Amino acid sequence: MRNTTRQTRENRTITVDFQNEATYFHLLGDGKAFLECVLAFVLALSLQLKHKATCCGGGCLTRHSHYVRVRLGGVTIWRLQCTTCRAVFTVLPHFILRYRQMPPEVARNALLATHGGLSLELCAVICHISPMALYRLVCAFGQQSLVAVLTRCGLPLPIYILADEKHSHCLREKVYLPTIVQGRVLWHLGYTAEASATAFTKSYQGYQRAAIDQEPSYRVKGVLTDGFDSTTKSMRTLFPGARLGTCLRHALLKLPKKLAAIPSPLRKALRTQLHTLWYRARQRKGLRVFALGQRLRHFVDHVTATAGPANGARVRRWFQAKKAGWYAVLEDPQMPATSTPLDQAHNTIERKLFAMKGFHHPGGSQAAFLTGLAHLYNLIPYQRRAKNAGLCGVEVEGGRVPTSDWMLNLQILTSGGYQCAPAPPHH
Ligand SMILES: [Zn+2]
Repeated sequence: MRNTTRQTRENRTITVDFQNEATYFHLLGDGKAFLECVLAFVLALSLQLKHKATCCGGGCLTRHSHYVRVRLGGVTIWRLQCTTCRAVFTVLPHFILRYRQMPPEVARNALLATHGGLSLELCAVICHISPMALYRLVCAFGQQSLVAVLTRCGLPLPIYILADEKHSHCLREKVYLPTIVQGRVLWHLGYTAEASATAFTKSYQGYQRAAIDQEPSYRVKGVLTDGFDSTTKSMRTLFPGARLGTCLRHALLKLPKKLAAIPSPLRKALRTQLHTLWYRARQRKGLRVFALGQRLRHFVDHVTATAGPANGARVRRWFQAKKAGWYAVLEDPQMPATSTPLDQAHNTIERKLFAMKGFHHPGGSQAAFLTGLAHLYNLIPYQRRAKNAGLCGVEVEGGRVPTSDWMLNLQILTSGGYQCAPAPPHH
C-alpha cells in the first residue's frame, strides 16, 4: 500500500501559470526574468511559499538548479531555493501535471466527465486515455489533504460540522465512507471496512489531526449526525466538548415507520404536524427548548388519541431516546438543523463510486481516490443554470480560489509548496 510510507522530505512543488508554453520556454533562457515571473505569480495568489519552519519567508529566492524531464519530451524544470532557509521549490509550469505524461487539457476534460458522473471507463474512452491513468490522476490530486487545500483557500476550519457515513460496496464487501461537511464543502471523505465506532473514530481522527496541524487550538463546537450510534460515539470520543445534535429532517423521515397499522392519510397528517412542530420550535429562539418538551408531549397525546395507544407508546419511547439530540440542535442557533448538505454531497459522490468499481481491490488507494474526488466536488464550479452558478463550493462558503480556472486552481492548490497566507488581523 502506497499511503503507509511517510514522506521524510517535504514536497515543495509549486505550479506556476506562465500563460502559454512559448513564454515558459522563452523565460528558461533568462534567469532573472524567470525568477521575477515566478515571484509575481506567487505574490498575486495570496498564498505563501512553504519555507522551513525556522524561515520568516521574505521574497529571497535564487535559481538553484534545474533538471530535464525525459518522460515529458525533454521539458526543462527549474528548482528554486530560498536563500535564507535553503528550502528548494520545484517549479512546474501550468501545462505539466506532476509525475504525469497527460496534458492538463486532457486531464481537465476527463476529470470534468468523472465529476459529472460518467464512469472511469467511458471518461477514458472519450479522452483517449486508459481508465487506470485517470484513476491514478485522481489519486495523485488526493495526496494533498482536504484540510490543507481548503485552508489554502482561506476557509476557516469549521466549528459546526455535519458528520455521517455513506454506505457503499467494495466488490462484494460492505464499506463505509465517513464524511464531514460544512455547507457546500467536503472537509473529510474517508474509507472503512467496518461500521464500528472504533473504525469511524480512526477515520474521523484523520480529519482532526490535519485540522490540529493547521491550528493547534482547533475545537469543534457542534456536530449534527443522523443519530447512528457508531457516529455519535466516535464524535463524542474525538470532540468531547462539542454539542451533539440529531438531524430534524431525519426524524420526519423516521416518523411514518413508528406508526403501524393506521390509514395512510392519517400517517401523512401526523408527519405534517411534526413538521409544523419543528418549524415553530425553531422560530421560538430563546424559548425553543422549553417549548419543544411541551410540544412533544402534546404530540404523543395526539398520536395516542388518533392512532391508538400502541403507536402512542412507540412514539413516546422514540422521542425519549432522541430528544437530547433535538434539544442540542435547538439550544444553539448556530447548530445546523438538517444534514441536507451532507446528503447532497453523498449523492454526488455516489455516482463516482460506481465509477470506482473496476478498480476496487483491498490494496487499492481508496483513501487517495476519494480525497481526489472530494477536491473536485469542492473546486469545480456549479453549472450555468444552477443556484450559485459559476461558483465552486469553496467560493460559496466564502473562500477564495487563486484563479478563475478550476483546473489551474486544482493544480496550484494540490501542489505541496504553497501554504495559506496568515489571516489579516481582525477588526
Ligand atoms: Zn525560506
